[in-house]
Amino acid sequence: MAKRKFKTEVNQLLQLIIHSLYSHKEIFLRELISNASDALDKLKHLTLTDANFKNLNFDPRIDISFDENKKTLTVSDTGIGMSKDDLVEHISTIARSGTKSFLDQLSGDRKKDSNLIGQFGVGFYSSFMVADKVEIISKKAGEDTASKWVSDGQGEYDLSDTERDPPGTTITLFLNDNGKEYAYKWSIENIIKKYSNHIPFPIFLHYEDTTFEGKGDKKEEKKEQKADQVNEASALWKRSKQDLKEEDYNEFYKTISHDQEDPLLYTHTQAEGTLDYTTLFYIPKKAPIDMYRADYRPGVKLYVKRVFITDDEKELMPSYLRFIRGIIDAEDLPLNVSREILQQNVVLEKIKSSSVKKILSELKKLSRDNEKYAAFYKEYGRPLKEGLYQDFANKETLSELVRFKSTKTEGYTSFSEYVERMKEDQKAIYFITGEKEDNLRNSPLLEMYLKKDIEVLILDDEIDEIVIPAYGRYKDHELKAVNRSDAAEDLKTEEDKKEEKELKPLIERIKKVLGEDVKDVKASTRLSDSPSCVVVDEKDPTIQMQEMLRQMGQDNIPEIKPILEINPTHPIVKKLEEIKDDNAFEEISRLLLEQALLIEGVEIKNPANFVKRINSMMQKAL
Ligand code: ADP
Repeated sequence: MAKRKFKTEVNQLLQLIIHSLYSHKEIFLRELISNASDALDKLKHLTLTDANFKNLNFDPRIDISFDENKKTLTVSDTGIGMSKDDLVEHISTIARSGTKSFLDQLSGDRKKDSNLIGQFGVGFYSSFMVADKVEIISKKAGEDTASKWVSDGQGEYDLSDTERDPPGTTITLFLNDNGKEYAYKWSIENIIKKYSNHIPFPIFLHYEDTTFEGKGDKKEEKKEQKADQVNEASALWKRSKQDLKEEDYNEFYKTISHDQEDPLLYTHTQAEGTLDYTTLFYIPKKAPIDMYRADYRPGVKLYVKRVFITDDEKELMPSYLRFIRGIIDAEDLPLNVSREILQQNVVLEKIKSSSVKKILSELKKLSRDNEKYAAFYKEYGRPLKEGLYQDFANKETLSELVRFKSTKTEGYTSFSEYVERMKEDQKAIYFITGEKEDNLRNSPLLEMYLKKDIEVLILDDEIDEIVIPAYGRYKDHELKAVNRSDAAEDLKTEEDKKEEKELKPLIERIKKVLGEDVKDVKASTRLSDSPSCVVVDEKDPTIQMQEMLRQMGQDNIPEIKPILEINPTHPIVKKLEEIKDDNAFEEISRLLLEQALLIEGVEIKNPANFVKRINSMMQKAL
């Protein structure tokens, strides 16, 4: 037998699982049973849809046996099995997307990391918490040879040929000191009942039954091998809601999601009538680790009349709800639906759109509880905003579900709360976008809004830049960026207009000295304490947006010049009007522009000149 090495990430994960999940070590059995159930699902689908497998004598079951003396525990299934290549690819490598970034997130602090591992899902490797050697014998349906995989979880494994009939997988754990309690009937039975009762295939527990026959002295001990079915083996989602308790739903969630924690919420729908289907959806407490990856693993499984069809179909949920876990079971779909058919199927389309509505209405219910909703929003606020951008049909509901920071509230606020607080003559919903919340809150662009007690939403998530302008308006209220020149028009008073006129000669003079560095110079109505600020024209991308595009690798964005606004009431501006010396006038005009750019987080073109100017000002002042 040739020794082969694990991929490094397997080693890292193994160590982490063993140490961090130790207090829940019994979950290893749930993970093995749930893998077995998936394997049975897959073969069942083939026997019903693929001519090559129709004649297979398929007896779907999971068998569990143990040996008290040898301290072994064996889980065997008659599922799809694994070929030698599968054993290398699926068992000896962690193929899951996001593994690398997951490992990078680890802090080395066990407590923190064990929370993360729950999100990652531990799977087969949890066996090594209770075993110092694991042996897998597997034969893939449709193939002739079987393979044996053995490892002590210390970095290497053996792979060899062996025999097995029928196809399926048998996993034997050689229990260590931490796991020896799992070589007893009562403990195995308890775990199955607790974690895997609702696996839709029968689970048989094999044991040796001892009875006594005869009477008095002639009593004889009789040993007999028995196998009892220990689970209900019915699809949980098909059972009546009245018969199911929260615990049942939560345990089932863990078997389908590999999450260690209870879900944040679940919703179970059994629809009958024009369309017959059942859905059971869950929202995990913590966002799945691959949520921001294009190759994320979809979380919804499709069944047709209780037969598993696929767990790899992103079309089952809109991408902004990619964190949803659960099941769709449709009555009116053919069993052998291809991916193409699935994507265009009218029945599925209808189920999908009702499902989305159902999930969003659950979220709306959740949003009535501020604290709970805040916890949800922390994890999933961003995908919801994507929804606001993508899901036209549910735009209205989504606009009630998104939340923002604001100048008027701590924590998060909604559009509708903002509107309730709006001033009577307020023309629009105002927002400021940018990178850092602190910078935004202190931006000179907000001065006049604050002074006039007008609320401004603080949008510090980079996705806001794209989503909110595209969304455009909430009900009758236009959404306006305060970083744009036009928003300040709303604030203009008669007094401002007069000042603007008086300032005209000064503005022309500044424009002349700044030349090509600005698009325009204007008298500002939005400033109170600061002498100047920069904004962009209505149709130009904001300064932050330009920065974002650059970071995303777009370097052919045309240079967009800022509009410099000056504060007519500020002492510096008032003094500036009196300066005769052209040189000094230009220096101060440039400083007004440069400081405004700096506050917006924009790099100034020539920092050396800026510093020179500051120094010369200081010299004059001292
Ligand atoms: P996960 O189940 O989350 O994918 P695991 O590490 O538990 O992660 O399993 C990795 C892969 O190994 C599975 O996706 C599956 O392809 C394969 N596998 C595990 N157990 C079995 C089994 N009993 N029968 C067939 N394939 C299995």
